[in-house]
Amino acid sequence: MAEFDYDLFVIGAGSGGVRASRVAAAYGAKVAVAEEHRIGGTCVIRGCVPKKMLVYGSHFAEDLHDAARYGWTLGETSFDWKVLRDNVNADVDRIEGLYTNTLDNNKVEIFHERATISGTHEVTLASGRKVTARYILIATGAWPVVPDVPGAELGITSNEVFYIDDLPKRVVIAGAGYIANEFAGIFHALGSKVTVANRSDQILRGYDEQIRDRLFQISTQKGIEFVFNASFEKIEKQEDGSLCVQFKDHERCDTDLLLYAIGRRPKTDGLGLEAVGVTMNDKGAIVVDEDNRSSVPSIYAVGDVTDRVQLTPVAIREGQAFADTVFGDKPHRVDYGAIPNAVFSNPPMAGVGLTELQAREQFGTPKIFTSDFRPMRNVLAGRNERSLYKLVVHPDTDVVLGIHMISPDAPEILQAAAIAVKAGLTKAQFDQTVALHPSMAEELVLMK
Ligand code: NDP
Repeated sequence: MAEFDYDLFVIGAGSGGVRASRVAAAYGAKVAVAEEHRIGGTCVIRGCVPKKMLVYGSHFAEDLHDAARYGWTLGETSFDWKVLRDNVNADVDRIEGLYTNTLDNNKVEIFHERATISGTHEVTLASGRKVTARYILIATGAWPVVPDVPGAELGITSNEVFYIDDLPKRVVIAGAGYIANEFAGIFHALGSKVTVANRSDQILRGYDEQIRDRLFQISTQKGIEFVFNASFEKIEKQEDGSLCVQFKDHERCDTDLLLYAIGRRPKTDGLGLEAVGVTMNDKGAIVVDEDNRSSVPSIYAVGDVTDRVQLTPVAIREGQAFADTVFGDKPHRVDYGAIPNAVFSNPPMAGVGLTELQAREQFGTPKIFTSDFRPMRNVLAGRNERSLYKLVVHPDTDVVLGIHMISPDAPEILQAAAIAVKAGLTKAQFDQTVALHPSMAEELVLMK
């Protein structure tokens, strides 16, 4: 009889867990995965994927408006939130099916229930059944933080926002990070009055300052309101069903929807990790080594639950590296250098490598090149929105250390440019590349 029921038991079928499961199974391991919600995890079910579809949906508002300048006469247009919401969720169902098929095709057994750790090699399912595994992989992701104030339960998080019944007339968004700026853009374009309320006096901390200043300026110009240094005091439901949000040092704000986007915490509560000796940090994240192994040799963790870089492609790489190393006899580690990222705000931002501030801290005063331009599309549309591209260059070696952009299609452009940063190319090599005209991306090789 085998020593364990499974070679690998994965808790959490999100991006990292699914990749690790199917790759380990393809190497011949006997694998099971437990998922208490839906197969696909945050990114597929209630994150990146449906969010991006809402971004596309909301962009039609400006496109339809601009169409007149391009000679189009449109009849009366209207927007139906329920149609967009239901179509998005139907596509999410389709993708969930694809993920499930991938697991089935690789003979990964799926338990649609919660699992907790009950031993260094043992997992207990919600049904009470106990199973053993040579290795356990925790890939439970992260969960939205909700503020600890009276009435907090009256607000929603990104978990619920994809299912709301109606488009709210007024929205207050708590936080000014990724999710806040993305949903500010979506709701504003769809016609809601949006107020972003943040505890500090800045948006998108950590992003290049000039780029986020430009987003702030464009968002304000569009009509999105920002309230800074705003701490929540309490939230109350009013007679007409709307919410009254009270801040400590600001005027109250009445709203129809309150969305929390104040960060995501590793989802380790109640998993039984402490009892078996798995070390966690002060944020509840599982501490792992470069091979994703926790303080308990049979227990590994990948993705947001480790709170290294909260991005889907990183979780996928960690899941792949884990499976290759432990089951494929192909040991390798994830390279965390120059990871590109994007905020799907309106307009979107994207960046890779060091910001100007980070470069200054590491290498002294970097060479900075910027292009501040009005995209052709906006010029003809009469839209007074300027784009900004920025190259951060090493003061001595001429290597491009970072690229930061805000412009239509910035994420699409940046993915290719990130290859150049990853490869360590110099500004001179950028300059040697002939421009592709007319495009916005050509600005990357024309900065003087
Ligand atoms: P972020 O970490 O991006 O931003 C959190 C915001 O909330 C900040 O403005 C922060 O303020 C504020 N905040 C943090 N803690 C508190 C608190 N206790 N009370 C009040 N305000 C608080 O979080 P998000 O929720 O927007 O997103 C979570 C993560 O998900 C992101 O970090 C990102 O990794 C990932 N994500 C990635 C996306 C993408 O790649 N496009 C899209 C969406 C999410 P302060 O100004 O002080 O920092």
